[in-house]
Amino acid sequence: MPVKKTQLTRKPTARSKSKKPVQYVYAFGKKTDGGRAMRDLLGGKGANLAEMAAIGLPVPPGFTISTEVCSYFYDNHRRYPASLTTDVEAAIVDVEQQQHKGFGERDNPLLLSVRSGARESMPGMMDTILNLGLNDATVEGLAARSGNPRFAYDCYRRFIQMYGDVVMGIQPANQESHDPFDALMDGLKAELGKTHDTELSADDLKELVKRYKRLIKTRARKEFPQNVYEQLWGSIGAVFGSWKNERAIIYRQRYSIPSEWGTAVNVQAMVFGNLGDDSATGVAFTRDPANGENVIYGEYLVNAQGEDVVAGVRTPKQIAEMASEMPASYKGLQRVRAKLERHFRDMQDFEFTIENHHLFILQTRNGKRTGGAALRIAVEMTEEKLMDQRTALLKIPAESIDSLLVPVFDPRAQKAARLIGQGLPAGPGAASGLIVFTAAAAEQESKRGNRVVLCRMETSPDDLKGMLYSQGILTSRGGVSSHAALVARQLGKVCVCGATNVVIHYEKKTLTAGGVVLKEGDYISLDGSTGEIYAGPIESADSEVKRVLNGTLKPAQSYTYRLFETVMTWADKYRRLVIRTNADTPAMAQQAVAYGAEGIGLCRTEHMFFEGDRIDYMRQMILAADEVQRRVALKMLLPFQKKDFAGLFKAMDGRPVTIRLLDPPLHEFLPHDDGVRRKLAIKLGVSAEFILDRIRALHEENPMLGCRGCRLGILYPEITEMQARAIFEAAAQVMTAKHPVVVKPEIMIPLVGFKAELADQLAIVHRVAREVMERTGVKIDYLVGTMIEVPRAAITADELAEVAEFFSFGTNDLTQTTLGLSRDDMGSFFETYRQKEIYQHNPFASIDEQGVGRLITTAVERGRSTRPRIKLGICGEHAGDPASIQFCHRAGLDYVSCSPPRVPIARLAAAQAALRDA
Ligand code: ADP
Ligand code: MG
Ligand code: MG
Repeated sequence: MPVKKTQLTRKPTARSKSKKPVQYVYAFGKKTDGGRAMRDLLGGKGANLAEMAAIGLPVPPGFTISTEVCSYFYDNHRRYPASLTTDVEAAIVDVEQQQHKGFGERDNPLLLSVRSGARESMPGMMDTILNLGLNDATVEGLAARSGNPRFAYDCYRRFIQMYGDVVMGIQPANQESHDPFDALMDGLKAELGKTHDTELSADDLKELVKRYKRLIKTRARKEFPQNVYEQLWGSIGAVFGSWKNERAIIYRQRYSIPSEWGTAVNVQAMVFGNLGDDSATGVAFTRDPANGENVIYGEYLVNAQGEDVVAGVRTPKQIAEMASEMPASYKGLQRVRAKLERHFRDMQDFEFTIENHHLFILQTRNGKRTGGAALRIAVEMTEEKLMDQRTALLKIPAESIDSLLVPVFDPRAQKAARLIGQGLPAGPGAASGLIVFTAAAAEQESKRGNRVVLCRMETSPDDLKGMLYSQGILTSRGGVSSHAALVARQLGKVCVCGATNVVIHYEKKTLTAGGVVLKEGDYISLDGSTGEIYAGPIESADSEVKRVLNGTLKPAQSYTYRLFETVMTWADKYRRLVIRTNADTPAMAQQAVAYGAEGIGLCRTEHMFFEGDRIDYMRQMILAADEVQRRVALKMLLPFQKKDFAGLFKAMDGRPVTIRLLDPPLHEFLPHDDGVRRKLAIKLGVSAEFILDRIRALHEENPMLGCRGCRLGILYPEITEMQARAIFEAAAQVMTAKHPVVVKPEIMIPLVGFKAELADQLAIVHRVAREVMERTGVKIDYLVGTMIEVPRAAITADELAEVAEFFSFGTNDLTQTTLGLSRDDMGSFFETYRQKEIYQHNPFASIDEQGVGRLITTAVERGRSTRPRIKLGICGEHAGDPASIQFCHRAGLDYVSCSPPRVPIARLAAAQAALRDA
């Protein structure tokens, strides 16, 4: 290879002083300079064209002008390096010799394509020019030599159109108006009473060429150029210029592609798919990109050139049809498919052209695929020995596991359904049910046996219960980190949020979208994976994996399950992080264990207080005016808590369970609605005024930073005492039951900032533990620790570790307190912050490594300096985010604890983190 590594990064201007002339032009064909490792310099298309030529695939010869020339072009007022002209001319001579044709040669013209190609593929964003080298003289030569004047004039009209558009700027006036060249073509077809372009004769096309040229002359006030080198340089300049066209810029912004990369230009001998019925052009995938099946998949058009397939001038045929229509070419295509996969060792997306039975490959790249396909392809390619397990694990986007677990719509039913709107995909899966507008209605309808979709402008903690009863949740406001989205992910519910085109009217009980007015009780369907909203019901079903895990389908009956199981087994082999789950109920715990959870990293005890009568006792406890009254209510709550913990311990069957003591601001439990308050007053035998007074007394300006977390237990030690008692009594009970289960409770104190806070609470926990153990005679192995969720805790972690046996990073609050940012109030400026790139991403979705991350690594270091074997985990929402999991791996945590539906994703992400680290 003539290029040294160091040249790849050096700027062309900086090295123009060196003696050895710089290589700007890289040939592919009989002699090939480049290869697939050189995509920075040659772009993805150029690098892979070189690679394919080098391994003997039929690639028409040509050359690539490097991306360095693009940088030079923009740094030097759109001029080229001095040596480029001679280099390009020499490269053309090489192509002429290989093709036995001459560029601009009247009787035997060489035609070229000029194509863009950046480091990352930017499909359709930049320009391509085909059939370059035709003019009034060479077109006659091509006609005579091919014996096919129709073909020659078809090429010529295509070239004039592309050149006129791309180089001479003759484009539609605006988005609504017709392409001026297409308009002429349509006009001619109408005059002649013909529908397809293939019906146009040589003479018709000759006439079209005349009209095209006239159009150029009037619009550009210049003749279409007859000199082939003028055509070539015009095209090269236009392709470099297209790097900075509007759509390319927008695309780069969207996919974070740096503008410095630049594009390469590929100049290549033309091959012709428009020579007649034994010629064709098409695109194909080496496997089905939708489901991953190991079959060639794609489409083609007979007697056509490349752009026709995408442009939709005619409807392309499925590749499978080629087997009977062009059997020899089909066999060739299958051979190419096998060779591409053996060489590139991944599913390929390639472009081909068949010229008089001869197959040519014009492009290949790794194909885009759905999540399900990614999994299947990785597993099957490993079994076919095209990949090893490590590579396969790294090839599957961790998130894509989700697509195997969520309920799915029946695809045919979905296609037929009426799409009425679009929101943000916040909880993947398919949900279909009756529209309800309130949590109460959700409960009522669901108890009647109906599936419901809860539709709210936005959700609040009051809606939690309703959400539990719903198949899906739709909100018209709020982003992907809104309450609805958060809870939906936690519960594994289907959710579409922030659907701004949906108008919800609570009083009228209507939902209006896409011109359709739906009432409460009408059917609606949500696709939480895409954000699509449909009117009416759509059939859906539990995923196969879920059915196997809950025992309603035999493993042997599900291929998807086998794929899932294989990937999970491989992942477990390579990961170091332990995966725990955030679960509050036995049902959630069971689901998580089925998904592979190895323990509970966070049980939020407050969630246990919402069910049934408990909320009333909870409210009684909160509203109590003094300790005596409070203890009365706590005594009522104790048996519920104990039962819940016992259930959880049994479900976890000996695995560790971390229980967080009461954490949220108390007002979250209080009734805000007048009617509910009145009922409560009657039930508690107090006056409505008393309740109102207590609510006022408990009011806080800023509850997130108010009396919550360990402050509650310090203020009301009897709450901590009751919770500790419930935990230890439940443990003793389960450990001495008929089928005893070992219990290892880990008790966690929230929102600690001072060692003294922790010590205060731990004293209560230890005392109650002693009491219970003495009374029951059961020895319980337990740990006490703290959450690290305020910066002070992270900074003083060495002191906290003197009393804490474990740390669990509560990164939701740690992010709020570190950034001084309320998750619930960031909606108004978040978008602006993203656009201005102040936030690279949502800090609540993926850990802010430079800020919050540094606090975590500080706490890890300081905690270990005091207690070297301190147990470290994370239980914030970040624990289900692959990028954050990678961070946790590098930070040296012992475990991550995520919501049950994300456990499989976390297993894979943890393996990927370990593999990337190795
Ligand atoms: P894009 O990056 O937008 O796909 P390409 O540079 O791949 O653009 O060109 C688009 C199409 O033009 C190709 O799919 C192919 O069908 C056709 N094409 C490009 N080069 C040649 C060639 N040398 N011979 C025949 N057709 C070509
Ligand atoms: Mg292409
Ligand atoms: Mg917290």
